[in-house]
Amino acid sequence: MKLQTDALVLKTTDTGESDRLVTLLTRDYGVIRAFANRAKKFNSRLHGATQSLCYGEFTIRSGRDSYMIDDATAKAMFFDLRQDLLPLSLAQYFCALAAVLAPTEEPAEEYLRVLLNSLHLLETQRRSRDFLKAVTELRLLTLAGYMPDLTACPHCGIVPEPLFFSPKEGCICCAESGRGGLRITAGVLAAMRHICGQPVDRIYAFALPEREEALLARVSERFLLEQTGVRISALDFYNAMR
Ligand SMILES: [Zn+2]
Repeated sequence: MKLQTDALVLKTTDTGESDRLVTLLTRDYGVIRAFANRAKKFNSRLHGATQSLCYGEFTIRSGRDSYMIDDATAKAMFFDLRQDLLPLSLAQYFCALAAVLAPTEEPAEEYLRVLLNSLHLLETQRRSRDFLKAVTELRLLTLAGYMPDLTACPHCGIVPEPLFFSPKEGCICCAESGRGGLRITAGVLAAMRHICGQPVDRIYAFALPEREEALLARVSERFLLEQTGVRISALDFYNAMR
């Protein structure tokens, strides 16, 4: 069977002398691992388009127990993102996160749009890394079914003051019920509601002071780690680089 779909290359692994195994986030079939034969050869037409962080149109053949990339045409390479280690390591973390959270063999259009928008804004430096990290984490988590409860403290039914967020329970809470919770601001709560609740193309349309962006990024990372229990080495690498 032949599949034709837009996809972003999340990761590549060298196999043998000239082949690559490519992890793709496809629009129509979610996360797919596919072989790109001879892709490491400079004269291969798959060479450019099967590098990590390349977005393009892929023709993929499904065999008995593996996928093969027949053809690939690059649409965006994010060249400027590759020049600088910090943005690059954050971009690689976004890709690793999508590989963990996005579905396999079912449509993943919204995941792909979040990734492409975040990579674009990271490349053009239009938003800060803390901002993009929080937006990407929280929206991918929401898409994957880990949407936090941001309405009120579930124990007493009010929006408390002072305000806490419990990464473990995945909700806002008050000082009494929120032991181990993180103190957040009304601005951070509004940002979290915006990221989780707005249509995908609106999620970047808000502003926070720099200190609150940093707090938002810390809260979303703790929430991600508590809820999913995953260890992502690209996140450890990014945090070590900062
Ligand atoms: Zn309470």
